[in-house]
Amino acid sequence: MSDQKIYDTIIVGAGAAGLTAAIYSSRRAMKTLLVTQDIGGQAATTNEIENYPGVGLVTGPNLMNEFKQQAQQFGAKFALAEVTGIIKRLDDRGTPVFTVSTNTGQYITNSVILAYGLTHRHLDVPGEQEFGGKGVSYCATCDAPLFKGKPVAVVGGGNSGVDAALLLSKICPKVYLIHRRDQFNAEAVLVEQLKQPNIELVLNSEVQEIRGDSRLRSLVVREVGDATKTRELQVEGLFVEVGYVVNSKLIEGLVELDQRKQIKISFDGETSQPGIFAAGDITIISFKQIVISAGWGATAALKAYEYLQKVKGFRGVKIDWGLAQKPNPTTPLA
Ligand SMILES: Cc1cc2nc3c(=O)[nH]c(=O)nc-3n(C[C@H](O)[C@H](O)[C@H](O)COP(=O)(O)OP(=O)(O)OC[C@H]3O[C@@H](n4cnc5c(N)ncnc54)[C@H](O)[C@@H]3O)c2cc1C
Repeated sequence: MSDQKIYDTIIVGAGAAGLTAAIYSSRRAMKTLLVTQDIGGQAATTNEIENYPGVGLVTGPNLMNEFKQQAQQFGAKFALAEVTGIIKRLDDRGTPVFTVSTNTGQYITNSVILAYGLTHRHLDVPGEQEFGGKGVSYCATCDAPLFKGKPVAVVGGGNSGVDAALLLSKICPKVYLIHRRDQFNAEAVLVEQLKQPNIELVLNSEVQEIRGDSRLRSLVVREVGDATKTRELQVEGLFVEVGYVVNSKLIEGLVELDQRKQIKISFDGETSQPGIFAAGDITIISFKQIVISAGWGATAALKAYEYLQKVKGFRGVKIDWGLAQKPNPTTPLA
């Protein structure tokens, strides 16, 4: 579906960052379109969130649905599609206009907010999908407290793997740290701290299979290079900390990235390309969390508003939103 009207902003991605950006941009009366492959992003894939302020324990889908409804309430429109590219041209006044291409059509906009997040790299072993959310976690910062008092394992030899093992060692009786090599890539100061009685290093090893019943109960680990040498670890949690997959193709050459293909931003969410802003996990921020992505989404939207005012002479209209505009939860997306 193509729509040739010009949006004030197009937000790529409807995770915590994109949905919050949409709430803020719509409240500034910016014509906002969220183009996204799903609603809720990573947060919608977990059933237990207990560190989002003000809401207590909540499921990811419920929390993200609240975000979505709030964005719709203020007028943001949604299109379910994959963004495949963004092209910049200059208008008659020499200011940037962007064409956002998707697998279903093209949209034109005066600004873009990139919030297309990350995908945690998976192990791709039997049982991983089955026990996702039932013992397998991709975020120690988020889920560690849920495993207090239980034996767990961590896979990964970088800073996040070692960090996760150290965090878990404070609340779990036993932590296995599984790594494919015999040396860690993490900073030496962190590796030194691994010398704890309840941390066991399982080096030159990889997970072969994840086993359990209604929840994860054990892992089969094999030696790298000799699949006959296996060992079964009795654990109730597995933290997969083996990095992220970043899909930066859609913006390559358009905005500056760091070595890990994360988008470089200013303190106000500006990228190196005037008119393009970015927020959340896809940027260079250190901590990848819902509340942090949401905060950066708000920042990027407010900066985009300021940009439109300065560069495009945009005048947001004051609107009395009123509670009467609360949408019907069954309202279709687009
Ligand atoms: C299993 C799990 C549990 C977690 N638990 C917690 C927790 O308890 N507490 C916490 O604070 N954090 C938690 N996190 C981390 C948290 O979910 C993320 O930090 C946060 O959701 C990131 O939000 P984001 O909007 O930056 O990106 P994402 O959530 O990654 O959203 C990206 C969005 O972009 C869309 N997208 C991607 N590519 C394209 C494209 N080409 N075209 C269109 N759309 C695209 C995706 O469909 C998605 O909607 C957890 C993460 C995982 C995976």
